[in-house]
Amino acid sequence: MKIIMLGAPGAGKGTQAKKIAAKYEIPHISTGDIFRANIKNGTELGKKAKTYMDQGLLVPDELVVDLVVDRVNQEDCANGYVLDGFPRTIPQAEALDKALEELGQKMDYAIDVDVPDENIINRMSGRRACVDCGATYHIVYASTKQEGICDNCGGSLILRDDDKPETVQKRLVVYHEQTQPLIDYYMAKGILKTVDGTVDLEDVFKAIVDILGE
Ligand code: ADP
Ligand code: AMP
Repeated sequence: MKIIMLGAPGAGKGTQAKKIAAKYEIPHISTGDIFRANIKNGTELGKKAKTYMDQGLLVPDELVVDLVVDRVNQEDCANGYVLDGFPRTIPQAEALDKALEELGQKMDYAIDVDVPDENIINRMSGRRACVDCGATYHIVYASTKQEGICDNCGGSLILRDDDKPETVQKRLVVYHEQTQPLIDYYMAKGILKTVDGTVDLEDVFKAIVDILGE
């Protein structure tokens, strides 16, 4: 099963992608996580990506596409995968379709987690990320057992630089301009499914399981 998660920054793509990956036993591929790991490790890719990410801008397509195409060609993706944060532009979607076509494959579902802009700033200002393992929480909606400490690995939790309100505003503008057109793109392909992302995260997941099947 090959799935794309669509939605504004902070809509809950990562939260749901992790649950999908666990239930259906497929890899969760987050381009944001890949860039953050590269930044942490001080790679050239990380250095380049950071200049865009800090401004709330998208990393250029040429730095993203090959990375994802290589990743989905790895052996653990043979039974499918859930893409989180990719594609984010029409050229990225076209490049992915072309790569899949060459392999005689196609995407099964594009799931749009729909959350209005008014809710996003609140979501993002409460999001906390683990500096060590990248797990994400929310101070109100998905809190940790011990404040400021990752349940997963015991690492410290931080507010991501790009989750500060001024950067989130910019990311929303970028989302509407460059990423939202993907909704029509996948609707035209007949694989778009929309779920209400404003409800409790377990209820969002139930709606997704209804679409994907038990
Ligand atoms: P995205 O991957 O789309 O940027 P996340 O999955 O990281 O978004 O979610 C953004 C923030 O909102 C996180 O802090 C997460 O814990 C929280 N969150 C996710 N889904 C819900 C939900 N349905 N209700 C409330 N908070 C949520
Ligand atoms: P995310 O963790 O998905 O919210 O991504 C964080 C940031 O990484 C984004 O704001 C972009 O700057 C960058 N990024 C992640 N995925 C992509 C992508 N597919 N194309 C361009 N930039 C991306």
